[in-house]
Amino acid sequence: MEKIQNLFINGEWTKPSSEEYLDKYNPTTGELYGKFASASREDVDRSIDSAYDAQKKWERLTSVERSKYLYKLIDLISQDREYLTNILMDEVGKPRVEAEEEVDGVLDQLQYYAEFARKITGDVVEGTKPERIIYQYKVPYGVVLAITPWNFPAAMVARKIGPALISGNTVIIKPSSDTPFVAGWIVEKVRQAGFPPGTVNLITGKGSVIGDYMTSHKKISVITLTGETKTGVQIMKSSSSIMAKLILELGGKAPFIVWKDADLELAARVLMWAKYWNSGQSCIAAERLYVHEDVYDKFINLFIEKTKTLRIGDPRTNDMGPLINSGQLSKVSSFVESAVSEGAKIVFGGGKPQLPDKFSKGFFYMPTILTRVKQNMKIFREEIFGPVIGAMKVSDDFDEVIDLANDSDYGLASYLFTKDISLAMKASREIKFGELYINMPGPEASQGYHTGFRMSGQAGENSKYGVEEYVKVKNVYIDYSKDSTKGEVIPPYT
Ligand code: NAD
Repeated sequence: MEKIQNLFINGEWTKPSSEEYLDKYNPTTGELYGKFASASREDVDRSIDSAYDAQKKWERLTSVERSKYLYKLIDLISQDREYLTNILMDEVGKPRVEAEEEVDGVLDQLQYYAEFARKITGDVVEGTKPERIIYQYKVPYGVVLAITPWNFPAAMVARKIGPALISGNTVIIKPSSDTPFVAGWIVEKVRQAGFPPGTVNLITGKGSVIGDYMTSHKKISVITLTGETKTGVQIMKSSSSIMAKLILELGGKAPFIVWKDADLELAARVLMWAKYWNSGQSCIAAERLYVHEDVYDKFINLFIEKTKTLRIGDPRTNDMGPLINSGQLSKVSSFVESAVSEGAKIVFGGGKPQLPDKFSKGFFYMPTILTRVKQNMKIFREEIFGPVIGAMKVSDDFDEVIDLANDSDYGLASYLFTKDISLAMKASREIKFGELYINMPGPEASQGYHTGFRMSGQAGENSKYGVEEYVKVKNVYIDYSKDSTKGEVIPPYT
């Protein structure tokens, strides 16, 4: 039976006031997967009012009390993890092993943030006169609008609600219209965990109706977005009148550098993951391959041989599934066409794979490798977000390679394979990316700070720095002396 999902406002599943629903398609088969509520502005108002009212009480709980709700949520998700794994396979087209890994990620993130219950601390500093003191409290901002993407739809919800809730904020989750059901399932677990009404709300719908409206609503204090850079820019504009705190996790264009002394087998194995994980739809995906001229041919051949072994098809039984939707499929194929028209050469893949008829409407694209790519081609400048990689041969000048890597609007993840410690250290100082993986794969850990340079975003998530994005420092000045003459003020106000 077709799934139907409503909005979750003030602790209850509720129909949208418009009674309108939107369609979600299964990317593997192209068939209708379910219908989800299209919220109106009135629904948005109700959800934000409910989060705003609930926040006053939620903040009064101690963080240890708040963590008990998070631990309950962790228990409920763990008990039913196979269900979430299935939605991830159906809704995103993730292979089983990747869907399972994402569920692990959700639990790891929630656990990590719940443990912050006893770690959010402030400072006490002396005043400038005797018997005066200043308390610097970490206080919540208020209502957090958490806007999530479709590529890691469960992990991104966990990464946002965890720190927001433990620090005393309440949340409105606005998931991508490509993955409303993953978010809905997590919110149902929130309901079962008994969070107070209004603490977590779910709004789904059309960007044209609710996008700017939500992000310019005066009762929103923090907007945390994971999405495309252009969406981040749009939200900076729409939220400018409300002075909301912005946490923006945006696009990437990761350089993947293979130096002449690298362990090529290791580098090729990691590149398989860095390129084909989630069909290349990851913000930390390798997008620009720079290989030293001495090992270029050998490495490209090794990577082609490994790529040939990838099984593509139904994500339940294969290594790589489809792209998320038809728009993404056209975008990825247009990148390949443009690279070829600019002089690149396809050495593996290109186009749709041959699959059984039942997947003929699925959004599949072949893993694709291009050589003869140049730094200024579109395929090296813009985010592809698909199983396609371009390769460029580089000379023995390591400084030049660092310059090439840094020459990008994006600055999220980067990769380097070398056994030379001095080059590794040089790169760790000079690569201008939020993350550098040396001789190893990602993804980022809960205890690492995930942040982008340049157009990859601002602020960040995970680690203690990520939690601190959700609290403000409030200062309380106290004079505790008994001397009533001490309250002197600047003349003439004596
Ligand atoms: P997207 O920007 O299209 O959408 C992200 C979310 O923003 C969705 O919920 C969407 O409905 C919403 N949205 C879009 N326009 C809006 C507006 N004007 N106002 C309010 N909400 C709006 O991104 P996507 O296609 O879902 O995700 C892929 C992108 O996310 C890629 O660029 C990828 O690199 C990036 N990403 C970044 C990270 C990171 O940690 N930096 C992680 C995952 C994905």
